[in-house]
Amino acid sequence: MAKVNPDFVKKVTSSVEFNATACMNCGVCSAVCPMEIELLPRKLFRYALLGLEDKVLENTNTIYQCLLCKTCEANCTADVHIAENVRFLRSYISKEIFKL
Ligand code: SF4
Ligand code: SF4
Repeated sequence: MAKVNPDFVKKVTSSVEFNATACMNCGVCSAVCPMEIELLPRKLFRYALLGLEDKVLENTNTIYQCLLCKTCEANCTADVHIAENVRFLRSYISKEIFKL
């Protein structure tokens, strides 16, 4: 069962690096992604904004599959900083989960 982690919510919403609230779920990012990553902007960032840490962690492999190429970002009309958001999630996983 999905569970909200309030600490995770705080970290995501107070971060200057993570910006996904403007996402309007248009799907352009998924359509242009060379890795055919569908989860990232549309679902994963929403999980992060809602504090659903478990759901984010279930998709750790996907988070690390992203090439940070910014093809999605260049085509996003909502100006979501997709690559920065991915970096933020990687950094969170490294520090908080893997304790690196
Ligand atoms: S292209 Fe931008 S607005 Fe559209 S789903 Fe992706 S992140 Fe959201
Ligand atoms: S930055 Fe990541 S999610 Fe965006 S198009 Fe490149 S591989 Fe896909």
